[in-house]
Amino acid sequence: MRGSPVHRQAQKDYRWEGVDRLAYKEEGSAPFKDISRQVLIADENLACELRYFEMAAGGYSTLERHEHVHGVMILRGRGHCLVGNEVRAVAERDLVTIPPWTWHQFRAAAGEPLGFLCMVNAKRDKPQLPSEDELAAIYQNPRVAAFLDGRMAELDGA
Ligand code: MN
Repeated sequence: MRGSPVHRQAQKDYRWEGVDRLAYKEEGSAPFKDISRQVLIADENLACELRYFEMAAGGYSTLERHEHVHGVMILRGRGHCLVGNEVRAVAERDLVTIPPWTWHQFRAAAGEPLGFLCMVNAKRDKPQLPSEDELAAIYQNPRVAAFLDGRMAELDGA
């Protein structure tokens, strides 16, 4: 891993000078929809990395858990996030912390993209996907089930 340049200028459309827009994950490795990844800061002298993820309207990240932690700031748009048993509406400049071994997923609102900065451990374990039994347990909570099925209208009235 090489160091990051001193300054990368912001460009239009939530892009940054010299930063490639990458696939979120390897296609077929896990369920996700309409999401991209940019690695903004990855320096060998830092124990964390800063990335920018963006999902198109209606897109979502993978439902997963792992030992490493995420520190998130919403930078663009609106959506919802699942953290453990909590489903929260999120908007620009909100902060979200994902503790170790906590199921999490982000979903963009129907009519808007959702973009967020994500700070993460540079050395990190591989995410786990829920087993069939774990997914059934996660679905026990009706609000969480509505979130996972993309029934977002049911969340905001609750
Ligand atoms: Mn994660």
